[in-house]
Amino acid sequence: MTSESEICFAAESTLGKLAKWLRILGFDTSYEPGFSAEKDIDSGRKKRILLTRTERVLDCKLSQEFIFIKSNNPFEQLREVINTLGIIYTDTRLFSRCIRCNTHIEQVDKDSVQGNVPDFIWETRDIFWKCGRCRRIYWPGSHTERSHDIIIRLFDRHDKL
Ligand SMILES: [Zn+2]
Repeated sequence: MTSESEICFAAESTLGKLAKWLRILGFDTSYEPGFSAEKDIDSGRKKRILLTRTERVLDCKLSQEFIFIKSNNPFEQLREVINTLGIIYTDTRLFSRCIRCNTHIEQVDKDSVQGNVPDFIWETRDIFWKCGRCRRIYWPGSHTERSHDIIIRLFDRHDKL
């Protein structure tokens, strides 16, 4: 498997939850609610692996790499992507990306986020990250809740997390 920086995705509008999960795993995933594989196929997204549920895309002669997603279940969809590309746990960069806007998040001083996070969070956490684009603030537990369980099942990593 190549490094995660070489894998990036463009998710169709019906695949918002899958896009969020790919961002949690650290993969560059563009997702715009209006994006349709059929209409927007040539709009500068050629280097991205298209994730689509549009069956008609299968009949098109696409120059772009794509994965046709069969399942309705976001977790199973994620498994389809992981299995198709042979992604393994060490290819991921967990919780390194803003799940809202896909930007890399960066660690910031605790003092700089006081007043911008709930008081009890500020008092009980020492590490914070911030998205430079949408300004969303993350802390250990903020977008990791329940995610670990799912990631453990996904990669069968019962002993490593
Ligand atoms: Zn953001």
